[in-house]
Amino acid sequence: STSMIYNFAGIITHFNIEGADFDVTPFGSGHINDTFLVKSKIVSYRTYLLQKINHFVFKDIDGLMNNMVLVVNHLKEKIAQKPNGNSEKEVLTLVPCNNGKYYYKDDQGNYWRMTYFLEDTRSYDLVTTEKQAYQGGVAFGQFQYLLADLDPAEIVDVIPDFLNIEKRLRDFNNAVANDKADRLKTVVTEVEYLSSWSTAMNDILKLGKAGILPLRITHNDTKFNNILLDKNNDIQCVIDLDTVMPGYVAYDFGDAIRSIINTAVEDEKDLDAIQLNIPLFTEFTKGYLSETLSFLTEPELKSLIKGVMLLPYMQAVRFLTDYIEGDVYYKTHFPDHNLQRTRAQIQLFKILELNRSKLSDIVNTEWLLLKSNAPIKKV
Ligand code: ADP
Ligand code: MG
Ligand code: MG
Repeated sequence: STSMIYNFAGIITHFNIEGADFDVTPFGSGHINDTFLVKSKIVSYRTYLLQKINHFVFKDIDGLMNNMVLVVNHLKEKIAQKPNGNSEKEVLTLVPCNNGKYYYKDDQGNYWRMTYFLEDTRSYDLVTTEKQAYQGGVAFGQFQYLLADLDPAEIVDVIPDFLNIEKRLRDFNNAVANDKADRLKTVVTEVEYLSSWSTAMNDILKLGKAGILPLRITHNDTKFNNILLDKNNDIQCVIDLDTVMPGYVAYDFGDAIRSIINTAVEDEKDLDAIQLNIPLFTEFTKGYLSETLSFLTEPELKSLIKGVMLLPYMQAVRFLTDYIEGDVYYKTHFPDHNLQRTRAQIQLFKILELNRSKLSDIVNTEWLLLKSNAPIKKV
């Protein structure tokens, strides 16, 4: 296995940790980094997580780790002010290296970082209950709330243009113009469909550029398995902070909804199986708004539904771009995998469009309910 090729004992000596004689085992189901559990053979010592940072995806490791330090320090300060807040359980804790940095570069050019392992927690790949959906909304809403007073200018764009639809459409149009893999003739319908929506999908960016939507600090990978739940299935901690960057709140809302609301998998072959789970949408929205009520502006509230449309659209554009270019970016498991992914995301987009006003009404209703009931939340 891949875990055998690393000199873990050597790597671990560079981190400031307690204990000795460690067992190191692969952990979790993340797709980006390689994650390992580091457990001392003496059970009274703390357990750690060691991660090899994917530096093919993240080129600027200094910028990335700098972001992470700023974000966790800010979160810890805020959590410490909260009644019963526990900044060690609710926020990731980075372990410093002997060189004073928060990562260690080994002689093979791999980048390693370490955090405290959070005991008695679980992450789930799929949302199956309304409680989970609600907790997901609370988690990502609170994350944005706690970071709302950290200046986005301090956070670097670790992946420039990651959620920039203008840039994604430019790449898409280039792929169409070049037709490198000679596949364009097989996807004319999909290309025309996505092109017909391109102007409408520019809304969030336009409002941002006009200063109507504020740039904030967003998570940008709001998958459900980037939340740790405690024994009672309550939110404990938001993890996977690699893509934390300046962004618009609707991006996080939309990307979370993209997976939570879909009853099928992202690359579903049977398009009829793609349906909306409205109760999960409602619960996520309730949880999210309960945390963001105090700072969300009216235009931001209105933008949430735009994010719900934009994120599946952007994913369809990216999958189709890759298909047209001959499958150069995403790993594919069978010949037309990127096309199947494209069609599934287009189908989701179409159903969302059909239900757009219904979903929008839910957001507005929950907002009004919360506004009339809840005292303004302060941490
Ligand atoms: P990736 O970017 O590869 O998704 P993550 O940082 O999300 O990496 O970590 C992968 C998995 O490891 C998570 O989904 C979660 O299950 C687990 N995990 C990550 N950090 C912690 C932690 N501090 N304590 C417990 N489990 C964790
Ligand atoms: Mg993850
Ligand atoms: Mg990640």
